[in-house]
Amino acid sequence: MKILAVSDQVIDRMYTLAPRGHFQSVGLILGCGDLPYSYLEYIVTMLNVPMYYVPGNHDPEFNLQDKRSRAEGGSNLDLQTASHENILIGGFGGCIRYRPDGINQYTQSQAYLRAFQMLPKLLINRIKYGRALDILISHSPPFKVHDDIFDPAHHGLKALNWLNRIARPRYHVHGHTHFYRNNLETQETMIGSTKIINVYPYKILEL
Ligand SMILES: [Zn+2]
Repeated sequence: MKILAVSDQVIDRMYTLAPRGHFQSVGLILGCGDLPYSYLEYIVTMLNVPMYYVPGNHDPEFNLQDKRSRAEGGSNLDLQTASHENILIGGFGGCIRYRPDGINQYTQSQAYLRAFQMLPKLLINRIKYGRALDILISHSPPFKVHDDIFDPAHHGLKALNWLNRIARPRYHVHGHTHFYRNNLETQETMIGSTKIINVYPYKILEL
């Protein structure tokens, strides 16, 4: 299955490519955060396939009562797992806390506590399917993988390294780190059996 993963930056070309059937063979959309929900809603409407996403630090706080806090037609997968055509997906929103009043920001310890909340779901998957996850989607990168140790807003989360060790997904797709010197920065890193991919601003995966 082809999977379209998007993150952090609206691609204007999407508005011309999608109507021309450029992403016709895509069977699943993954959103890694910091994108206007209207953009996600446009993509899901055009491609008409399931969409799972996690919020980033520039997204509003999720509130079931408030339509503006979610993308219609998609599922907020923050701390949740889902199964689509036998592909097991887990989600982890937000990034490192760099402002005391920041939304969807967590200290390293808070991020660990959030990751622990996913354990029961991962365990059930392992019992039911023989594996915990195929794809982990997050906004933040893991610690020291595609992150920026010189910028407090772009430190990776250690809880994500831990989640990858526990869940062993085939892919971990994330956003948050932008490229300024295209092609010079590493966008894909293999750690254990997990390929970690920075999807900024979009990537096509084949599973
Ligand atoms: Zn971000």
